[in-house]
Amino acid sequence: MLTIHSGYDLTAFNTLAMPAKAQFFTELNDLSDLPELLDFIVQHDLATLWIGGGSNLVLADEVPGCVVHILTKGIELISDSKESVLVKVAAGENWHDLVTHCLENERFGLENLALIPGSVGASPVQNIGAYGVEVADLIDRVEVFDTFSNSFVVMGNADCQFAYRDSLFKRNPGRFIITSVIFKLSKQFEAKCSYAALQGWLDAQGIKELSAQAIFDAVVAVRQSKLPNPELLPNAGSFFKNPVVSNECFESLRQTYPEMPNYPDAAGIKLAAGWLIDQCGWKGHYRERVGVHKDQALVLVNHAGGSRSDIDELSNDIKQSVFDRFSVQLEQEPIAYP
Ligand SMILES: Cc1cc2nc3c(=O)[nH]c(=O)nc-3n(C[C@H](O)[C@H](O)[C@H](O)COP(=O)(O)OP(=O)(O)OC[C@H]3O[C@@H](n4cnc5c(N)ncnc54)[C@H](O)[C@@H]3O)c2cc1C
Repeated sequence: MLTIHSGYDLTAFNTLAMPAKAQFFTELNDLSDLPELLDFIVQHDLATLWIGGGSNLVLADEVPGCVVHILTKGIELISDSKESVLVKVAAGENWHDLVTHCLENERFGLENLALIPGSVGASPVQNIGAYGVEVADLIDRVEVFDTFSNSFVVMGNADCQFAYRDSLFKRNPGRFIITSVIFKLSKQFEAKCSYAALQGWLDAQGIKELSAQAIFDAVVAVRQSKLPNPELLPNAGSFFKNPVVSNECFESLRQTYPEMPNYPDAAGIKLAAGWLIDQCGWKGHYRERVGVHKDQALVLVNHAGGSRSDIDELSNDIKQSVFDRFSVQLEQEPIAYP
């Protein structure tokens, strides 16, 4: 049964706590309500924003159209072989709860992605990644409702066009409603801890036996020590993607900044956006309503009821100063809507 609200306050539905108001808002708990919801959307000719935890959004004060909070639940084992399992998960499941559930049931692969806020349905949208793992590595297929063809479609991993913090879904906002994600998880655990911060924490704790639980605990501890909890200090995680530059551009930057962190990438060299921003003196920058986190230059925070214009102004100033100093263009990671 759908209840559709109008003029709905979304402050509690986005982790940046933008004081946004939706023209219409509803919760989708059951896919059987989808036809009724789609009828309402078509009848009123509404743009639609499908949301989970609202942890990757920068909302405007007024959000026209219909905001749909997807809350469908279900975790189902659909195939079980000697080496691996396929697990089908409904879009509205909480991401970290899924990671915990898989660990408890010895289905391995998701450990490095522990504690990322948000829903399972959003995980393919920006191909979430952390500590050397991207969710695209673990997705077998994604079930969607395609609002263009008006039909349910199963999209294989390659169809999703995953890239660094990107996918077909992110490039076609509003078109696909992700209803379930099917993960291919391993029965044998293989530790992935090449990431310096992770290895550093394990070394510091003297942990030699790299079990799945040990990696999970390390990821949780490192994240808790580095990232502000949005419930205490509203934020949307990393606000900028790590920029990828050409080899020539990197060589020229390295002449002036030999200490610049860099990582090989298929498209060139990946730079650390946080380092670039920090070099421009932004860490801890404080404005009346918004600012840059005191320990994490990549995280913009909303400490006193700031709105989209406050965040946009700060983000543009940061981008400009990084460009002026390094000639590198930063790209925003969270999705600005509308
Ligand atoms: C403290 C913090 C740390 C973070 N750390 C990381 C990190 O390490 N790595 C990382 O990759 N991200 C990180 N993020 C970003 C964020 O957690 C992820 O992008 C997450 O997947 C967003 O999930 P959500 O449910 O909150 O999505 P929302 O913010 O609700 O939505 C994000 C986008 O996905 C779309 N969407 C959501 N659900 C669906 C659906 N079912 N069907 C179709 N479209 C949908 C929305 O329309 C929107 O475009 C972090 C955020 C915070 C606040």
